[in-house]
Amino acid sequence: MPIDNRVATNQPPPLVGHNVVTSDEALVDAVTRHASSEVVADIAVIGEVAGSAEAREHGMLANRFHPELTPYDRYGNRIDEVRFHPSWHWLMERGVGYGLQAAPWESDSPHAHVRRAAGFFAWSQTEPGHGCPISMTYAAIPALRVDDAIAKEWTPRLAAPSYDPGLRPVAQKTGALAGMGMTEKQGGSDVQANLTEARPTSVDGEYTLHGHKWFTSAPMNDVFLVLARAAGGLTCFLVPRVLPSGERNRLAVVRLKDKLGNRSNASSELELDGTWAQRLGDEGRGVRTIIEMVAATRLDCVLGSASLMRRALAEASWHVAHRSAFGGLLADKPLMQNVVADLAVESEAATALGIRLAAAVDDLGDPHEAALRRIALPLAKFWVCKRTPMMVAEALECLGGNGYVEESGMPLLFRESPLNSIWEGSGNVNALDVLRALSREPEALDAWLTEVGRARGEDHRLDRAIEDVLEMLADTTTLEVSSRRLAGRMAACLQGSLLVRFAPAAVADAFCATRLGTDYGGTLGTLPAGTDLRAIVERATPGL
Ligand SMILES: Cc1cc2nc3c(=O)[nH]c(=O)nc-3n(C[C@H](O)[C@H](O)[C@H](O)COP(=O)(O)OP(=O)(O)OC[C@H]3O[C@@H](n4cnc5c(N)ncnc54)[C@H](O)[C@@H]3O)c2cc1C
Repeated sequence: MPIDNRVATNQPPPLVGHNVVTSDEALVDAVTRHASSEVVADIAVIGEVAGSAEAREHGMLANRFHPELTPYDRYGNRIDEVRFHPSWHWLMERGVGYGLQAAPWESDSPHAHVRRAAGFFAWSQTEPGHGCPISMTYAAIPALRVDDAIAKEWTPRLAAPSYDPGLRPVAQKTGALAGMGMTEKQGGSDVQANLTEARPTSVDGEYTLHGHKWFTSAPMNDVFLVLARAAGGLTCFLVPRVLPSGERNRLAVVRLKDKLGNRSNASSELELDGTWAQRLGDEGRGVRTIIEMVAATRLDCVLGSASLMRRALAEASWHVAHRSAFGGLLADKPLMQNVVADLAVESEAATALGIRLAAAVDDLGDPHEAALRRIALPLAKFWVCKRTPMMVAEALECLGGNGYVEESGMPLLFRESPLNSIWEGSGNVNALDVLRALSREPEALDAWLTEVGRARGEDHRLDRAIEDVLEMLADTTTLEVSSRRLAGRMAACLQGSLLVRFAPAAVADAFCATRLGTDYGGTLGTLPAGTDLRAIVERATPGL
């Protein structure tokens, strides 16, 4: 038989046309557990579109054709606009339309935040960059609530499931988006170093801002929560891009960042020069006010990273289920089963923890849930985001050389993978925040103990890990230097507690052996012999 080079053999079909919700058993189980099967059915509508060839194509295009800054119009007027590829707008229209922005804060449903978290997790698998403005809009509401009048003015637009791009006064828009400006050149984590100055005007509560912001993502959003220094100290301000009169606020976009990943999204440097602002909360309470927004975005960092892991796992497990080498399917090779099963364990642990934390937001009136959220958010943000690049790199390798090529979609996931660990408090900052919660809020440790204690006696490795944490906490002289170790251990105990109680035995056992016990081989793909690898892989593979 002559060789026909026009036809490829032994190449897997693209992973499209599947429902990213219903084909993800770990997600379905978590949403059913913390909400209901009705919520699963609701978000399955999002999962259907997210798995389509059309959505995949838009995700690729939005990253190939980067946003462009247009500082001036053709006549030389300063306009500071950013132009996006139509695929960005396609993605945004659906993400906002599905109510993944601030909609849950206005919902009567008892599971609105779980629904939104699972929808965000599923929809971000199309393309992660556009999740940024959607997340910030979700996260702005708890901070806005410090001021009734401001919250009343903005919440209906931020919560409306209507994507209405373009710079116009908010009163003329059917929906609006929010962003945040904290980081300056001389200090990001250390916001007390902020230099941007706020000068009161003659109108009570109104100021002009003078200074800069070194990172402000999604500068085409309608409104920003910005930190600046007023007479009473660091203060939070509300800065609209367009003033109620229709005039553009004095907010100059100096340039867009040329970033490693997150290419579809625009991240800008801003100059504030007489920028009109309304005070949000009291002078000197800026960090206290904006921390509410930061906390809510940290949840999305966990969900966004879990979503990257799931997409990477789905691609890896799909590939090995369709590719043969050395006389058989890769999925049947014991060592490849070990790799994919280990990826699946990591992904399920991240999914379970992310959805559990969203359930805490649905129930913030319950003191246990509120305290758990306080301690578990920085724990989870530290641990899940930190493990994502390693996990995505290993998933990429399952596709061999194809995984290194842009068309596979894996490089996009890999470039995005370190980001959630950096913004909204990078790794060390979150680990230190865990110590802050432990020292200032005794109920936080109680909440963690209660939560992990729900699985006590079920697995000796989990029991031992909980004891380890208590021993670490007892030695206060080494806490700061060991805070990453402590945060990681505490997060893994939370994941272990969820998996031991709710996941299939094979998944829970593999997790406890390698993440909590001493059976870790130094890389992924080193689950101990005797693990039911096939069961774990089958649970994780879309379409099987
Ligand atoms: C793509 C992108 C988009 C962004 N968008 C926004 C945005 O919209 N709005 C916004 O305000 N910011 C934004 N940021 C900025 C981001 O939040 C900051 O970069 C981040 O908070 C870290 O601040 P920094 O860069 O000043 O680093 P630094 O604060 O200088 O930190 C450098 C390193 O030191 C570590 N570190 C800091 N303090 C300690 C300590 N006490 N002990 C030990 N280690 C420590 C940190 O963990 C980090 O690893 C964005 C960043 C990126 C990459």
